Amino acid sequence: MEGQFIGIDLGGTNIRIGLVDERDAVCDLIYLSAREYSSWDDLLIKLVSVIKDMEVDRIKAVGIAAAGGVSTPKGVMSYSPHVRWMDGQPIRESLAKAINLPVWMDNDANAITYGEWMYGAGKGFSSIICLTLGSGVGGGIILNRVLYRGEDGLGGEIGHMCVQPNGRPCRCGKRGCLEAYSSGSAISAIYRERRPNGQIDDQISPVEIYERAIAGERVALDVFKAFGEHLGIAISNLVNVFSIHHYIITGGVSHAWELFSSPLEEALEPNLFNPHKGRVEVFPGRLGDKAGVLGVARMAKDYLRSEIR
Ligand SMILES: [Zn+2]
Repeated sequence: MEGQFIGIDLGGTNIRIGLVDERDAVCDLIYLSAREYSSWDDLLIKLVSVIKDMEVDRIKAVGIAAAGGVSTPKGVMSYSPHVRWMDGQPIRESLAKAINLPVWMDNDANAITYGEWMYGAGKGFSSIICLTLGSGVGGGIILNRVLYRGEDGLGGEIGHMCVQPNGRPCRCGKRGCLEAYSSGSAISAIYRERRPNGQIDDQISPVEIYERAIAGERVALDVFKAFGEHLGIAISNLVNVFSIHHYIITGGVSHAWELFSSPLEEALEPNLFNPHKGRVEVFPGRLGDKAGVLGVARMAKDYLRSEIR
């Protein structure tokens, strides 16, 4: 299909707006800070002005992805854990009306999964599962060439799979979720718990803990070991349920691959149902922080062609 598409990735911290050309490449990428906006109406005014500054005559449709629960195809934010003022907002409808273009809306991890499947590490597979490891854990499932959404659009919330009964508390209110072990916020929290009182600063970041682990610090290495083990258990459960053999790991924390990939493999293999043993591959994503923009722009394109729902 001729024409250009826009992909908007609304994260809790960063907002990325990308113009995607006819060859499916991001030709213009603009960053905004989510913290500068205090309501959806404020942000909408800014998005409209950024879109109008792009070559609007050639734009066919816009895709917008957000962290949290998105009811599709309505495009209403049903649960926004990071940006509370997005809760209940009819994002798809209000953006479409403001720019007078077709709009598709989806969850951010679904958009990243779609991007990696179409253009990145998942290209060519009929089924993949993608896990995005950032401050939280997101997930997306491509099952037999269709994005699997579940009955109410909330399918793929792999971060809230229980990997440790009565385990650490999760931000969602449950205990023992994957996100409570294998996310950026969990790395900092577990590290603080395991260090003797008073020896560390409360604000220590996952990047600093990564550097300490690379330098050989035992506590930091153990945090990444637990991170990988819980990820391996989660993936073994997904393999046993879906019989999907290819798993993509993306997001900021995936850069610590060298620290968690061995414990992941060691926890994965013994927990697989016998016929799956030796057949599962887990590998990093290829599109970096453009995956969400590319994925949701492609969703908008496929929506115009009636190839997504
Ligand atoms: Zn949870």
